[in-house]
Amino acid sequence: MNWITNYVRPRINSIFSRREVPENLWKKCDECGTMLFHRELSDNQNVCTNCGHHMHITPRDRFEALFDAGVFAEVKVPEPVVDPLKFRDQKRYPDRMRAAQKKTGEKEAMLVATGEIGRTPIVACAQDFSFMGGSMGMYVGNAIIAAAQEAVKLHRPLVLFSAAGGARMQEGILSLMQMPRTTVAVQMLKEAGLPYIVVLTHPTTGGVTASYAMLGDVHISEPNALICFAGPRVIEQTIREKLPDGFQRAEYLLDHGMLDRVVARTEMRAELITIIRMLLNLPPQVHGDLPAPEPVAAIENVETPSEPVATAETKPE
Ligand SMILES: [Zn+2]
Repeated sequence: MNWITNYVRPRINSIFSRREVPENLWKKCDECGTMLFHRELSDNQNVCTNCGHHMHITPRDRFEALFDAGVFAEVKVPEPVVDPLKFRDQKRYPDRMRAAQKKTGEKEAMLVATGEIGRTPIVACAQDFSFMGGSMGMYVGNAIIAAAQEAVKLHRPLVLFSAAGGARMQEGILSLMQMPRTTVAVQMLKEAGLPYIVVLTHPTTGGVTASYAMLGDVHISEPNALICFAGPRVIEQTIREKLPDGFQRAEYLLDHGMLDRVVARTEMRAELITIIRMLLNLPPQVHGDLPAPEPVAAIENVETPSEPVATAETKPE
């Protein structure tokens, strides 16, 4: 550790990693068309301040809003073999991976972390839809297993945020094998008597819905999220019938018993704290700051100053 590593390198890195280019300063809401200032939008966890539409949020931003004071520790995920099938469509699979890594700044489509929410220790993992559609490959399988093992080891509940277009076709049958693997991981939590809470976000589809995203003790969803195995278009073409309004959306699924709750992203943290503390048989969280110490006790530890100190109230004009 010296002056170069402590001071110069972070400065250089910050200059080259600055992403705030002018065209990113404003973002248009896909739903109502309102132009939203980027800072206002990120302060509101990417929820439109005008219509409440939930836009995409990265796992890292989500964790910063979720954990107490935005503090969390990443859990290391074992790396799988890269491109075992030597898959190629219009592009080679490793090239697609590199492009996704460059675009998102993340290694893969899932982030695992430990930390506290409302002073309640948890393990959390979140899937990134912007990384190849959040597709479930071997890495995502490994991430869920690592998260479950960490939860069992630390004896903490696991909260999983799902978002996926399904299995990663570039890994063929190896991606489908993640369905039973992650099901076993969830079973480990159940055998340890630990709560497993799934927050389904837009969109959660395919093999993800058919495995770990539907095995929670409690299923919460963000408003208007699409949650399905096969999408509405495929179903419409197959049965040749018009589907009802809001079909496979969070509110429809809540009405039909597939979900326990639909909760806005801005309320999610408080909701998770309440549910987790209830399931762990802990007293409810203390809201706001803890009460200040009694004035007498506070004064005892402070040396009495020789002259009266001018404060805002006593300061003469
Ligand atoms: Zn809007």
